[in-house]
Amino acid sequence: MTYSALSHLECSRAGTRYDADAVQGVSDLGAPLLARYDLERAGRTLTREALAGRPADLWRYHEVLPVRDPDRVVTLGEGMTPLLPLRRYGAAIGVPGLLMKDEGLIPTGSFKARGAAVGVSRAAELGVTGVAMPTNGNAGAAWAAYAARAGMAALIAMPVDAPPITRAECLATGAELYLVDGLIGDAGKLIHAAVPERPGYQEVSTLREPYRLEGKKTMGYELVEQLGWAVPDVILYPTGGGVGLIGIYKALREMQELGWIGERLPRLVAVQAQGCAPIVAAFEAGESVSVPWPHAATVAFGITVPKALGDFLVLEAVRATGGTAVAVSDDALLAEQRRLAAHEGTFVCPETAACAAAARQLRAGGGIAAGERVVLLNTGAGLKYPETVDVRVPTLAVDGRIP
Ligand SMILES: *Cc1c(COP(=O)(O)O)cnc(C)c1O
Repeated sequence: MTYSALSHLECSRAGTRYDADAVQGVSDLGAPLLARYDLERAGRTLTREALAGRPADLWRYHEVLPVRDPDRVVTLGEGMTPLLPLRRYGAAIGVPGLLMKDEGLIPTGSFKARGAAVGVSRAAELGVTGVAMPTNGNAGAAWAAYAARAGMAALIAMPVDAPPITRAECLATGAELYLVDGLIGDAGKLIHAAVPERPGYQEVSTLREPYRLEGKKTMGYELVEQLGWAVPDVILYPTGGGVGLIGIYKALREMQELGWIGERLPRLVAVQAQGCAPIVAAFEAGESVSVPWPHAATVAFGITVPKALGDFLVLEAVRATGGTAVAVSDDALLAEQRRLAAHEGTFVCPETAACAAAARQLRAGGGIAAGERVVLLNTGAGLKYPETVDVRVPTLAVDGRIP
């Protein structure tokens, strides 16, 4: 039986082939490498019927994941997060068919765990002994956790403004952590310079190694499986580096090739904050790549990415599916975070609150029709962002009285 049907890596710009059984970074053109599988072989054992009997984690799709030896899987139980109907909130914004895939319930509280589980497992299988990355917080926390579980070292650099909990997560799991008075790109330069001096370490920055994407694509497989092998009409994704969106699109194409879904694909919507919207600007200008966004700043810190290496892949996926790119203000997303939690009990991260605000905006503007099935991805738990809620309540004297 085939555990992984991984066949080779492919340059996302030129289509050139690379060996998938060596440690690889980007292609000779500096573009992300995409993992390719022998899908015909995968499809012999990976069937919709077989899946029904497999464990409820992301490794259920192992034929289309890169780890060759099942004993090398490093897991904390990630995957198969709930797909929740948001009936009350959906009705309030005019989209009664609204659903949310809740990645806040995954280990480390953000969907970065998917990329880390698969990325760390494969890196360890290929003999890597340390991973090094810049991060806006959650990715570092997730890779540090999975690296610890794999017995691997982790070197992390993050902006001083990243969510404080993520620092604690890195340190608790034994990572070597540095704060940078700058943005993720500045942290990236420091990491890039440090890695060559550390034998055994691999640079695992966003899309600078091929397997984080493979972990994140499993959101696409799960979503379609959870909908009974149907695709929704629209998927809204909070876009920083864009790995989740690129991954979902990759999963949809693979599922088409496996014969599981038809021609129609969901419209993919890249959501950004007005304070950092390079992909929205490129989309609106009809460009195929983005230009670095100056003075990037938003409370939705996970999507503060002024220039994404995979911007052209995000734009391609959005356009190929008839989707769009939308920017929302910090005020709008913070208000939406409260409304969503108050209507449904779902305290989402500010990045996902941006998607809720975008759904409201698109519905009002006719970009989403009333009867459509629309999915928000909650990429992280609101619990990781306590500072996004302004907590001002009366403190009572012990002998006082509640009015
Ligand atoms: C990293 C992150 C994102 C953005 O993910 P990309 O793959 O970089 O687009 C969105 N939300 C949260 C909570 C994140 O941590």
